[in-house]
Amino acid sequence: PSEEYELSRRRIFSNTKELWYYVNSELQSLVKEDDSVRVEHISKIKNIIGEHYRSLLKDVSSLADVDGHAAWRQQESENLSNLVQKRLKHLQNPSDCAKARKLVCDLNKGCGYGCQLHHVVYCFIVAYATERTLILRSKGWRYSKGGWQDVFLPLSDTCLLPNGETTNRWPGHRNTQVITLPIIDSINPRPPFLPLALPEDLAPRLNVLHGDPVVWWIGQFLKYMLRPQPATSNKLDEYGKKVKFQKPIVGVHIRRTDKVGTEAAFHKLDEYMVHVEQYYKYKELTDKVDKKRVYLATDEPKLFSEAKRKYPEYEIVGDEDISKTASISKRYSDQSLSGIITDIHFLSLSDYLVCTFSSQVCRVAYEIMNSLHPDASTLYTSLDDIYYYGGQKRRLHVAVLPHKANGPHEMNLMVGDEIAVAGNHWDGYSKGTNLRTKESGLYPTFKVSPKIETAPFASYPDVTL
Ligand code: GDP
Repeated sequence: PSEEYELSRRRIFSNTKELWYYVNSELQSLVKEDDSVRVEHISKIKNIIGEHYRSLLKDVSSLADVDGHAAWRQQESENLSNLVQKRLKHLQNPSDCAKARKLVCDLNKGCGYGCQLHHVVYCFIVAYATERTLILRSKGWRYSKGGWQDVFLPLSDTCLLPNGETTNRWPGHRNTQVITLPIIDSINPRPPFLPLALPEDLAPRLNVLHGDPVVWWIGQFLKYMLRPQPATSNKLDEYGKKVKFQKPIVGVHIRRTDKVGTEAAFHKLDEYMVHVEQYYKYKELTDKVDKKRVYLATDEPKLFSEAKRKYPEYEIVGDEDISKTASISKRYSDQSLSGIITDIHFLSLSDYLVCTFSSQVCRVAYEIMNSLHPDASTLYTSLDDIYYYGGQKRRLHVAVLPHKANGPHEMNLMVGDEIAVAGNHWDGYSKGTNLRTKESGLYPTFKVSPKIETAPFASYPDVTL
């Protein structure tokens, strides 16, 4: 398919959703609790619109598969992934480690596992862009004292030491042999190739392949980094058998404890389950669903009994004991590490994700999911944030239709305006800042399209498939 075809198809798909968010939320605002006739009428409209919506979505998504497109996408995704993995392997295994240019990254960012993985991905992206072998210093890691290699394969077979002739802090010089990198929040100067930028040489293909190409790109770094040690891989397989992980299954991540009230709002189990239910209704349009399953990952152990009690028609897969190792007081231990690796693994293997993207746990699961499918950019619902990368520059929309502000909360758009996006309100509107007018406010999401930024990265002309 051409880029034009793919972009139109994706626009119809996402705007079908936006229309439904809008109608749903407007209908909800018409509900008057003391008027039962009206409540019933609205609920009837909602049901038929819901059916209509799912049927439209199904028809549009079939356009991704027909006429050989599914086979093409599968092949293109494999080719691109093989190319990137080969470049990473080449980068990480220089012919002479003593002379290699290196980038040193510490696995000691004072935060949780998801946040730390994102820290390493950021280091790896800088290493890739500047063609330096990434050296990960991980001894004394807060999750496992022995370091990264306690659970994952080392990032190199041949080059693991941070020494060299000359060492300097970022940005150093091209011929400085070893450069050390701070965390993304304090990197200075900020290079152009940080997320959400795509490498120039791959962007044209990624834009055709994928609905959110930067997620695919980030997923490729995780794919390389998270190659498990044999013991890790065995544990994951055994756990999968123990909990009878099988499809269809929706991964639900519910982040509570230390996150709620500080970095995210509280969401009830029911708010997640509405979307799980939606997913299965959608699925039933094309497949017979023998059993509705949920893989539940959470740091709140009580949710397992709540889910089983309130949703008896579901099989709740997962392990309450794992969530007991997730609390802030027990978090930094080998046991907790194995728990979070397990939860993220099985979330990423699920057919669909329902979670809050304010949590790095779910964002990592989604990124990994996108390294397992040619394009999994539509296989999630986030109850709060849109996808972002901590420390990212910005996400851009570009207006494809004009808009006249309808009240003080909205802003004007002219075709071609670029908007730095703050978020989606999941009611048909997004919020952002118009870079032309400097105005901030709401605008109908269907009037914009995503704009992907690119940057010059090293392009590895000698590494080919
Ligand atoms: P965030 O704080 O949610 O953005 O994500 P982080 O990964 O940076 O930190 C949260 C940490 O809490 C995780 O790394 C885990 O150690 C723990 N945690 C949170 N949610 C879960 C969960 O669903 N399962 C498990 N096993 N641990 C969790």
